[in-house]
Amino acid sequence: MDRRSLLNTSAAMAAGALAGCALPGQADAPAAAKTPFSVAQTSIPIVGSDQRFPVRRIYCIGRNYAAHAREMGSDPTREPPFFFQKPADAIQNVAPGTVADHPYPTLTKNYHYECELVAALHQGGRDISPEQALACVYGYAIGLDMTRRDLQRGMGDQKKPWEIGKSFDHSAPIGPIHPVALLGGHPAKGAIWLKVNGQIKQDADLSQMIWSVAEQIAQLSRAFELQPGDIIYSGTPENVGPVVRGDLIDCHIDGLPNLGLRIV
Ligand code: MN
Repeated sequence: MDRRSLLNTSAAMAAGALAGCALPGQADAPAAAKTPFSVAQTSIPIVGSDQRFPVRRIYCIGRNYAAHAREMGSDPTREPPFFFQKPADAIQNVAPGTVADHPYPTLTKNYHYECELVAALHQGGRDISPEQALACVYGYAIGLDMTRRDLQRGMGDQKKPWEIGKSFDHSAPIGPIHPVALLGGHPAKGAIWLKVNGQIKQDADLSQMIWSVAEQIAQLSRAFELQPGDIIYSGTPENVGPVVRGDLIDCHIDGLPNLGLRIV
């Protein structure tokens, strides 16, 4: 690093320190930092636009439909919402009308689908009220929270973090993001279903969520400062189950194009 860029870096860091806030995704580096190699920014296509939605973080809510909470062995009436994350590069973009090859992951013998509505944020903050929360949502997509269930359960049983069951490569297939304006509002009801090889497996309604998208954003923002580019997988209904190589997944949420995968 020459003296001039060193000075520039110091100035940028000082400016950041004075402002008292970190720039999203570049807390300690100027925007044009020289790097020895490049790291791809994960992004998702936006319907009706040539722009793409840059992904900062993937949050997921657990057990957000009562019947699914029961099938996972918990009491849906008492449990506050809990969250976990997947790395941003776990995204697998799937174009509408296509069937994407999805790699069966290593280490598991019980690989599960979880069909979910995904909310994508263009605004963030801390301690956001449920009343303000939907103003943070840029749009929605259909997504799958793919899960190595045996590893998730095994780690849970040992009281270890179940990251290995949830936060692996390609574990977040997703369709394109539909801006709220295109959808004509925020989806609060409507069918959500998933078929494997043409046979219905999950079949529920978005209105059966225990915590609404607005409530999820409010709760999350008490634990984390949310930022533009964060996306939230809003939980799956009951009847999660396994897939094996060769299986075809077709999933649906009213108002969004279906998401199709072939497990390979
Ligand atoms: Mn899930």
